[in-house]
Amino acid sequence: MSLSEIRTRLTAAERRAGRPEGAVTLIAVSKQQPDARVEAVLKDGHRVFGENRVQEAAGKWPAFRERYDGIELHLIGPLQTNKARQAMELCDAIHSLDRPKLAATIARLAQDMGRCPGLFVQVNTGEEPQKAGVTPAEADAFVAECRAMDLPVRGLMCIPPVDEEPTLHFALLAKIAARNGLQGLSMGMSDDFEQAVMQGATHVRVGSAIFGSRAAV
Ligand SMILES: *Cc1c(COP(=O)(O)O)cnc(C)c1O
Repeated sequence: MSLSEIRTRLTAAERRAGRPEGAVTLIAVSKQQPDARVEAVLKDGHRVFGENRVQEAAGKWPAFRERYDGIELHLIGPLQTNKARQAMELCDAIHSLDRPKLAATIARLAQDMGRCPGLFVQVNTGEEPQKAGVTPAEADAFVAECRAMDLPVRGLMCIPPVDEEPTLHFALLAKIAARNGLQGLSMGMSDDFEQAVMQGATHVRVGSAIFGSRAAV
């Protein structure tokens, strides 16, 4: 597949969902992709990218930013507190805010740095033990806690369990966001982004469908 094909499908999904064209931000997930593939997508004019590891983002994006204007980088993977400063320096948004200690660290650094990336609270909608994120039951209190620290919480993020109907998880995330007055919904990947758009996604995170399969880790 390719960027233009995914853009076409995204626009069609927005239309089917009765949403304005451009309502959904396409985050091209470039983790583990060779630079040449990333550069081809930059040359096509795309500017919004996602990485799941701070280390990899640090190795790759400063050089691209020197050569291309207007890049917007989203951290979509788990964040250790000792990498929070680096993540905040590198990224425009962080989608993996998932615990009070990380929230407190980001709040302190934001004071120090005078800026803060947009934040998405990760919700473990499937309540899977191996997955990051607050549980749906903890979400309201955690969002309130983040707001009390003046953190710019833009929305919620989820990664549904692989073997379940994603639409149910997207709908649950949308419900939690609505009752907390949050606009942003980071949900949907290569296999299910159109379903996510139907459920109100504002950000879809699409990797392999744009770039091809990733190098083995
Ligand atoms: C890798 C990754 C994606 C993209 O996955 P694809 O199936 O390649 O589209 C989306 N979100 C997160 C959190 C990821 O780690």
